Amino acid sequence: MIIHMAQSATEAQHERVLERITGAGFSYEVIHGATGIDVIGVLGDTATAEEGWFEELEGVAKVTRVTKPYKRVSRKTASDQKTVTLGDVVIGGPDVVIMAGPCSVESEAQLMAVAEYVAGAGVKVLRGGAYKPRTSPYSFQGMGLEGLEILARARSRYGLRIITEATGLHRHVRADGSLEDKNVLEQVLEYTDVIQVGARNMKSYGFLQELARLTVKTRTPIVLKRGESSTLKDFLLAAEYIVANGNPNVMLCLRGIRTFEDQEFQRYTPDVGAIAVLKRECNLPVLFDPSHSTGYRESVHAVSLAAVAAGADGLIIETHNDPSNAKCDGEQSVTASQLARIVDDARRVKAALGRS
Ligand code: PEP
Ligand code: MN
Repeated sequence: MIIHMAQSATEAQHERVLERITGAGFSYEVIHGATGIDVIGVLGDTATAEEGWFEELEGVAKVTRVTKPYKRVSRKTASDQKTVTLGDVVIGGPDVVIMAGPCSVESEAQLMAVAEYVAGAGVKVLRGGAYKPRTSPYSFQGMGLEGLEILARARSRYGLRIITEATGLHRHVRADGSLEDKNVLEQVLEYTDVIQVGARNMKSYGFLQELARLTVKTRTPIVLKRGESSTLKDFLLAAEYIVANGNPNVMLCLRGIRTFEDQEFQRYTPDVGAIAVLKRECNLPVLFDPSHSTGYRESVHAVSLAAVAAGADGLIIETHNDPSNAKCDGEQSVTASQLARIVDDARRVKAALGRS
């Protein structure tokens, strides 16, 4: 952190700034500029320091940060690309990793049908929500624990890994109004290979902390989705929350953002350009969700390829065996043949770029 003193700053004002720096546990270095303006460098782990502590002092013109507040996930601090390993699947390496499945687990028959063609397409990670965060309280809320059990059976039958969302630290309300015994996070942790934190929970900081603390030992991989109205800086700080609390196995997932666009043509605006930003700013694997970001299956193929071309390490794609009767997000779910084509073309794009 650098404190720029005003040209008119007095000796006493200088002294007060230096006292505040040492009082906060930091050391300093003063550079006397040729123009008569002094610059004071604050030395130490300044991630915990607030600019305001110094900005409010008389004689201070400006305070700027040199190090990123998200220092653990920053490429400047740790330049090596991080990878997340799931058995024989490595995310953040040369391969583009595709995760696919329905928005939500609806029944044993539905999930098994999807898992069969997902595995047949060469996809190794099956997605499916058992706990669904829905905008309307009247929409399908997910099968809960039963959904997790179905996912686990699909995993062993088809040799897949599973990713499912933990919606929070509350207990799930079943369709009959009763509560499940365990809270959602603890329940999901018992079953899943990868935990998804959805866009709605990106800023649930207490949840992020507890999630990280509960997975310090297992280091269960976590996919953190970008909040629909969150800045990239907020997104990186949310990832930092998890890493700083003990679980380094975080993957970022872009899933479209809210803009002036209404939902006639696109549900959100696909933030493909943000892939390039995240890849240079941070060391975590970056995934892209072409399903939620576009909202329509007709756009999923094109945006998937754009994301791979832009450097995404993987894609999370919604697919359904009977999209027009899906309980959730049917319009954006691709069919089996569309999925197979995306998987194929995504690999060809990656190979054409010489990265696979
Ligand atoms: C989902 O993956 O089905 C989902 C709810 O995603 P998001 O949190 O990005 O809306
Ligand atoms: Mn969905």
